Amino acid sequence: MSSPSAPVSPDCAPVTLRSNRDEYRLGEMGPLYEHGAQEAIAAGVDLQLGTRYLGKVSDHTYLIRNDAGRTRIQAQYIVGADGARSQVARDLGLDLNTHLLVGAERVYTVTSAPAEPAFHCVIDPSIAPGYLAWVINDGVHAHIGTAGYARRYRHGIQQALETFSRTAPGLEHQDRHPQQVEKRGGPIPVGGLLPRISCPGGLLVGDAAGAVSPLTAGGLDPCLRLSDHAVEILDSALTQSEPDLLRHYDGATLRRKFRGRLAMRHAFAQLRSPTMAAAAFTGLRTRPGRAAAKRILFSDKSFPTPPTPQDSFGIRPAAPTTVGA
Ligand SMILES: Cc1cc2nc3c(=O)[nH]c(=O)nc-3n(C[C@H](O)[C@H](O)[C@H](O)COP(=O)(O)OP(=O)(O)OC[C@H]3O[C@@H](n4cnc5c(N)ncnc54)[C@H](O)[C@@H]3O)c2cc1C
Repeated sequence: MSSPSAPVSPDCAPVTLRSNRDEYRLGEMGPLYEHGAQEAIAAGVDLQLGTRYLGKVSDHTYLIRNDAGRTRIQAQYIVGADGARSQVARDLGLDLNTHLLVGAERVYTVTSAPAEPAFHCVIDPSIAPGYLAWVINDGVHAHIGTAGYARRYRHGIQQALETFSRTAPGLEHQDRHPQQVEKRGGPIPVGGLLPRISCPGGLLVGDAAGAVSPLTAGGLDPCLRLSDHAVEILDSALTQSEPDLLRHYDGATLRRKFRGRLAMRHAFAQLRSPTMAAAAFTGLRTRPGRAAAKRILFSDKSFPTPPTPQDSFGIRPAAPTTVGA
């Protein structure tokens, strides 16, 4: 998806920000998950869908539940990829997300593509308290969503999404009763990457590690990049039988690079009324305000690039290996 992003204020006078390059990609999550699963299976992973992690029994022994019932499994390392409220993080004694937004999104089929691809952001505390609502129409699907602080939704997030869907920008000339194809929702950690995300028994990735841009709340790219880093560290630890290597998987170092964004997230969270949002928009209409917004929405720095084990810690490159369950 390319170019303009159009933050819209409560008074509905949009500010258009234009980029010279393609900025956003829309993920078809179903096919992406399937592709990831197939890649994992091809690499030797024993994929067991419908399996629930129940908790830790003792060091390296965990309880899971699947169709066959409850089972104890042994694992040298456990990877917590279980989302913002990670049970694995709790069991390993690692850091937990405490600063959470809640988000909800619906995906509809659309009848026509917009004249120009655009990512519409709406800043209105009555629809998205402390964050923003969005509309993206790629010509096939329209994604309509809102996120904010759960306790600040006066009539709940679903009601806010309903209201927003009726007035959302960027959906002109569309079917008034489009077919809904998907919905998603849940907590979004925005406190930045957690400092302590590994221990000799395992590590955390994705939302469990707080690997979400505190400002844009985008978590897919950070999740994939941090997971690559995790794979390198785990591969080295497994092939060299060296659990201590997991200490190099360090959130504290990467987190320092989030400082500016965490400060801006804090400022964003203070927008509690339409009047305050409108005042912020006055700033956004100025040249420095537009430049700042472009840096946030169009820069490549949603997540710091994790160091490679070889570069930073002198870890020997590991021989290719296949890790099975
Ligand atoms: C409404 C909404 C819209 C979003 N839009 C965007 C966007 O446009 N762009 C973007 O980059 N990011 C977006 N995000 C954020 C993005 O979805 C997450 O950052 C990303 O999915 C993180 O992936 P994850 O695998 O770490 O966590 P999740 O996607 O939350 O996956 C965790 C999985 O673990 C499973 N699980 C939890 N507990 C257990 C257990 N005990 N046993 C077994 N399984 C368990 C869950 O069922 C879930 O399947 C959005 C989030 C929301 C809520």
